[in-house]
Amino acid sequence: MTLKSNKDIPIGGLIDEAGSSKKFKTGDWRSFRPIWDKEKCIQCMMCLPLCPEDCIPSEGSGKDIKRKETDLEYCKGCGICMNVCPVKCIKMEEESKFTK
Ligand code: SF4
Ligand code: SF4
Repeated sequence: MTLKSNKDIPIGGLIDEAGSSKKFKTGDWRSFRPIWDKEKCIQCMMCLPLCPEDCIPSEGSGKDIKRKETDLEYCKGCGICMNVCPVKCIKMEEESKFTK
């Protein structure tokens, strides 16, 4: 993606294209990665709505809903999911361990 100069940005920083945040891969600057232990997960769904990037997907609905693996293209490594998980089945690990 090419960086824009200040002259190319709409006045007031208005977003003039619906859904454009999808183009910004917020996982690019993650320094910690959430590691999810799916065996320990009780599928309480606490982490999904609290993720600021909405990058924890789910499948199914109602009492059959299940969380799926984190979408690392958008996960920015904030650690909120780890902090809200009641059974501590998410731990944050340094991203550098995976990118060497
Ligand atoms: S670390 Fe933050 S951005 Fe990544 S999945 Fe957890 S809550 Fe979402
Ligand atoms: S908060 Fe923890 S136990 Fe609940 S769905 Fe998320 S990972 Fe699973």
